[in-house]
Amino acid sequence: MSQINLSSYENTGLRVAAGLANAFAAESQSRSNGADFAEALASILKEDPPSLEALRASHMQGFLDLARTLRQVFRSLIEGRTADAADTLNAMLAKHPANPHLAEENGVWRLHHHPSDTGLVEMWTSICAEALARLIGDGHAGRIRFCEDSRCRAAFFDTSRNSSRRFCTVRCQNRTNVAAYRARRP
Ligand SMILES: [Zn+2]
Repeated sequence: MSQINLSSYENTGLRVAAGLANAFAAESQSRSNGADFAEALASILKEDPPSLEALRASHMQGFLDLARTLRQVFRSLIEGRTADAADTLNAMLAKHPANPHLAEENGVWRLHHHPSDTGLVEMWTSICAEALARLIGDGHAGRIRFCEDSRCRAAFFDTSRNSSRRFCTVRCQNRTNVAAYRARRP
């Protein structure tokens, strides 16, 4: 199993993609009418303070649609349907390609992945799709999993050396181990 090396940009893209997909799954199981998703979205975008600052109620439907699409991509990857995931990611990338852009800030030139006037949903569609596409292109599609805790089932990507993680967090691992221990007791 090859070692996984992700840039911070790819890491952010993967974390946000998984966060959105999981927020969508939680939202579709609740009756919050979007309130839970809005709260989860704000927490996910804390990764990037300018995005959180730019977030408006009018972005919600776009992020919900993106989250639904990402959930499908994760499901396709976990079920081994890589071609389906690739089709969806290619369509996302064709519609919202990365757009490297130089901008001068306080006399310093910086290369951004998008011009600053790119729409928030469009920008994150591009970032999430590119991060997942790179992961697949690098041969790591198998590192995308659903957490084995039956009450969680969150999508996560496994960065462990031997690609053997079964749970999204230690919390889920402990919860499952405790339940298994209780079930074994007479
Ligand atoms: Zn979990």
